[in-house]
Amino acid sequence: MEQTHDERIIREGFVTVTGARQHNLKDVSLEIPRDALVVFTGISGSGKSSLAFGTLYAEAQRRYLESVSPYARRLFHQMPIPEVDEIDGLPPAVALQQQRGSGTTRSSVGSVTTLSNLLRMLYSRAGDYPPNQPILYADSFSTNTAEGVCPECHGLGRVYQVTEKSMVLDDTLTIREGAIASWPKAWQGKNLRDILVTLNYDVDIPWKDIPQKDRNWILFTDETPKVPVYRNLNREEVQIALKNKSEPSYMGTYSGAKKLVLHTFANTQSTLMKKRVSKYMISSECPTCHGKRLRPESLSVTFVGYDIADISRLPLKQLQSIFIPYANGTAPGLAKLAEKHEEKALVAQRIAEDLVARVDVLLELGLGYLSLERSTPTLSAGEHQRLRLATQVRSNLFGVVYVLDEPSAGLHPADTEALLKTLDRLKASGNSLFVVEHELDVVRHADWLVDVGPDAGEGGGEILYSGPPAGLKDIARSKTRTHLFNDLPYKKNKPCKPAGWLSLSGVTKNNLNDVTVSFPLGVLTSVTGISGSGKSSLVSQVLVELMSAKLGNSMASEKEEGEDLLTPEVIETVGGEITGGSENIKRMVVVNQKPIGRTPRSNLATYTGLFDVVRKLFATTKLAKSRKYQAGRFSFNVGKGRCPNCEGEGAVMVELLFLPSVYAPCPVCEGTRYNPETLEVTYHEKNIAEVLSLTVNQAADFFKDDERVLRPLKVLQEVGLGYLRLGQPATELSGGEAQRIKLAKELQRLNRGKTLYILDEPTTGLHPTDVEKLQLQLARLVDAGNTVVIVEHDMQVIAESDWVIDMGPGAGEEGGNVVVADIPEKVAKNKRSKTALYLSRTFN
Ligand code: ADP
Ligand code: ADP
Ligand code: ZN
Ligand code: ZN
Repeated sequence: MEQTHDERIIREGFVTVTGARQHNLKDVSLEIPRDALVVFTGISGSGKSSLAFGTLYAEAQRRYLESVSPYARRLFHQMPIPEVDEIDGLPPAVALQQQRGSGTTRSSVGSVTTLSNLLRMLYSRAGDYPPNQPILYADSFSTNTAEGVCPECHGLGRVYQVTEKSMVLDDTLTIREGAIASWPKAWQGKNLRDILVTLNYDVDIPWKDIPQKDRNWILFTDETPKVPVYRNLNREEVQIALKNKSEPSYMGTYSGAKKLVLHTFANTQSTLMKKRVSKYMISSECPTCHGKRLRPESLSVTFVGYDIADISRLPLKQLQSIFIPYANGTAPGLAKLAEKHEEKALVAQRIAEDLVARVDVLLELGLGYLSLERSTPTLSAGEHQRLRLATQVRSNLFGVVYVLDEPSAGLHPADTEALLKTLDRLKASGNSLFVVEHELDVVRHADWLVDVGPDAGEGGGEILYSGPPAGLKDIARSKTRTHLFNDLPYKKNKPCKPAGWLSLSGVTKNNLNDVTVSFPLGVLTSVTGISGSGKSSLVSQVLVELMSAKLGNSMASEKEEGEDLLTPEVIETVGGEITGGSENIKRMVVVNQKPIGRTPRSNLATYTGLFDVVRKLFATTKLAKSRKYQAGRFSFNVGKGRCPNCEGEGAVMVELLFLPSVYAPCPVCEGTRYNPETLEVTYHEKNIAEVLSLTVNQAADFFKDDERVLRPLKVLQEVGLGYLRLGQPATELSGGEAQRIKLAKELQRLNRGKTLYILDEPTTGLHPTDVEKLQLQLARLVDAGNTVVIVEHDMQVIAESDWVIDMGPGAGEEGGNVVVADIPEKVAKNKRSKTALYLSRTFN
């Protein structure tokens, strides 16, 4: 298959890659057909993405960018120029990658799909207006414009009040003891107290005994008197000092407590601070817009009886059924509209046609349970990718290559069939599809396979096979081959007896309505069901919230920074209770796919604690000792060791107009993060930056004599992350990688048992070979006396778990129930379960 440069023949209808060396690719050459579904396979870290994204997509983008102005070029998240000799026959490319890290934009399903624009146009041009109300522009139906946004709550949907009750939580305390809970801590709090002493208020009697008039002034005054402050004097002494005009410690300015709360809430940049002060505010639904965030005039316009906020809350499936009669002209409302306003009816029908066609694709992709209003940060990466895929299908492009990253992530096999139809549609309209994928149903559907491997990192990077799927059968070195052609014999579990049951009842959340369910303790449970059936609502939301309330963990610390406080979800309380079994659980660990950090400052080594040990090793070297460098010197986060230009980030943020900012390597330290003096210190001939650039596999060899470093490294290898670099910034990790790092961190602890582990689709991004490794790790947790609950789609993993809870039967309104809860063999026989069909195949 490999050809030298000279005998290279360029085949019609093929993309020809010559000499690709990006990342771990070993100077590979291959041909890939156009107008076909090409699937790239191989274990994690083998080099699939380096080929599909790092080489093919990057090259397509580079060529495109060469044709645009340097100014416009700046606006793209430019991929590094790929290391490759030549690529021929490459069409323009569109990448649909799962988001690495996570976007912080406040976008919604409606804005990503641009369906909201259509709706706004519809309401503007064809809505029912109250008598005498002038027609509104489309912009007036957007909360992002001054014409649209509710003037009372500024689009928050909620209003905030600050009252005596909300700020003074315990009125038996004195001011000195901290009666005014909302005051800042530390110096500023003491300062305010001392000012009140100067103003002759008694700060040493219980709050409730202070006259109401004084209390009101202290809390609500708008005055900001500036007065002399005498530190360490009591009230009488201060009055004397004032009379004598003694020299004060300093001059202090008072601010009312309410004013401080509001000011901090409105101005602080820190999420934690915002969270802290929000505790002293009472929030309630905005009385003007009732949480709909638009002005009353905009909300007064309706379509089939819904205002635009209400219609945006409907599941897409329901939206579709409203618009179909408008699109095909059979809606009675349309005829009525035509009687009075011919042109309005025309507009309504046109827009309805467009809406129906677009929503069709979303339904086909199994997203009918989403509403337009749903904010994108609450979507899974897979849902997000499918939304963008749907948008592409409607864009009527042809002759382009779509490069996709595991589009089946988060999909039940029933949903995957729909995905394949959509991919076929894109292909039929004259496009090429390059897909990185593990799901065997997608792999089997391919016209052409490119198998990369055989192992990860340096052990991979070869093209083991490039051709029609059937031919992979003969490739002995391929790890994919075994899984694709030999249906692996199903390994019967030794039956695992539950050590008890954790029972929940009255579970009510999203589409779950008064559900009763029990999780067996001390075993592995898979929660299954099609996308939108309610798995995450049950496991990642209700179970986690109820258990953390029970355990009294402040889950707050686990919560993502930057999580929006203002969304109603946060204020909403959980429906449901634990009716038994929780006494057998002492600890809960949620191993999710949320990023482990949002800046290049956190990385694999820092997150797992591995780096602490490495830094200490550097501090013990001769040179470090002679220069009195302590372990802290080798941290890039603080102190004297780091590069002063990027302050140890190794990267500098480049602000881009209209687009999310991107990080570029720091020009001073060239991305090493350290200053030259620190880099002079070496341990076994490598400096600290060089150690950070080792992969886990390389590091395991490098540190083979140091048990404390070796142990965490081994665990990382066991979860299939041997190919990651120690210093790989958190921002470059996929959700699945982040999740496995968290899992590794857990596994390296000494296991105490009685822990509840919750994992949301841990097999995402894993080749079947890596899935087997993961299963071993989960089994280890169970063997140590822990309980493991996973949300899962992989039938092999489901078949080998001890218990299955199948949610559904459908998505959204049609789901939300426990269809069946039993051992896998029994679930496979259930007539109502959509999982049964696929699960039963595993047992044959
Ligand atoms: P796959 O897609 O098969 O999981 P990748 O193509 O992502 O594998 O990775 C192949 C190898 O290239 C791995 O050893 C990985 O650590 C390395 N690699 C991936 N991204 C980068 C990067 N941005 N810089 C350097 N090495 C990378
Ligand atoms: P699954 O995990 O099975 O894919 P989910 O539990 O995520 O399903 O979703 C179940 C239902 O609840 C869907 O109709 C979904 O749209 C809805 N839902 C999930 N999360 C939210 C949320 N944060 N806000 C509103 N609705 C939600
Ligand atoms: Zn409002
Ligand atoms: Zn720097």
